[in-house]
Amino acid sequence: MKRIIIKSVLALLVALFFCASLALAEHKPTLPTVVIITTGGTIAEKTDSNTGGAVPALSGKDLIDAIPSLSKVANINVINFSNIDSSQMTPQIWTNLSIAVDKALEDPHVKGAVVTHGTDTMAEGAYSLDLTLKSRKPVVFVGAMRDASDVSPDGPANIPNAVIQACSDEAKDWGVTVTLNQYVNSARDVRKTQTSNVQTFNSGERGYLGYIAMGKVTKFNDRSQWQKFPLPDKLPDVVIVSDYAGSDGRLIRYAVNSGAEGLIVEAVGAGNVNKDMFEAIKYAIEKGIPVVITTSVYHGSVMPVYADQGGGALLKKEGAILGGDLTTAKARLLLMLALPYIKGDHKKLVEIFNR
Ligand code: ASP
Repeated sequence: MKRIIIKSVLALLVALFFCASLALAEHKPTLPTVVIITTGGTIAEKTDSNTGGAVPALSGKDLIDAIPSLSKVANINVINFSNIDSSQMTPQIWTNLSIAVDKALEDPHVKGAVVTHGTDTMAEGAYSLDLTLKSRKPVVFVGAMRDASDVSPDGPANIPNAVIQACSDEAKDWGVTVTLNQYVNSARDVRKTQTSNVQTFNSGERGYLGYIAMGKVTKFNDRSQWQKFPLPDKLPDVVIVSDYAGSDGRLIRYAVNSGAEGLIVEAVGAGNVNKDMFEAIKYAIEKGIPVVITTSVYHGSVMPVYADQGGGALLKKEGAILGGDLTTAKARLLLMLALPYIKGDHKKLVEIFNR
């Protein structure tokens, strides 16, 4: 019996050594190390023969094995965090991802991280990590618009560019970025702008941070600002309601009466709502619910220009917070992280949204 135990312990040790040595053996000391954390999305999806639609299919190892040239650029460590379509992502999953990425970046050998993610909510996922990561090492969100069954998937071109960026000194002060089709976007300003084209992400009027070609990063801009929040134990319930011609405010009242702890109202124009929505917003504020105003307009900031009933100037006077040029979905993430942090200090919340 004793011999059997000794034998199996030995076998285990050899196996562990083999695994460790395999990884170490493949690590080239002359190359930087990058950790790739996979979460899913089209980049890891293939067409399902039954439905004809794309479904999660590839592991992190599958993604890396499809790009042998990567081993010339960096030592790659892979972490399979999840394998879901990003339409299924939640702020809570991004909180857990933030913890996992910070953990991986604690390793002094690791120069930066690449996060593979679906493009549908990539802009929000990247922003969530940009607001919560402790590490300032480069974190590059990457994905694809064509799945792995496509005749020319864009994933195998996007991943090497992301790894090159994560290793590059040019990128070291950009924090979290979204990099597809060779363009580098800041997490705060990036948006998905086209439902199927590979050139879907851009940063609107604030422009790209840089471009990647021939294995080299060209820097155009520094990032605009840094905002960091501690990860709260529990994320508050923040609801989004859109204003549209004829909207009557009932969805705002329902949200307030059903326990919402914060509201994002996507207004029209420079941040205006109709009179019924205005009354409902006042109702929410009277109930102590913070209300942030964003706009459905693509470019520009929300501003206190109009003073007709429901105009931005009156909304501000009533205590609504004008959300600047943040997208509606990102304003929600910022409010979810800021609320536990401000502990009821409304003035501080206004400052946070007006940075
Ligand atoms: N539905 C996919 C996703 O977000 C789209 C993509 O990745 O391009 O996960």
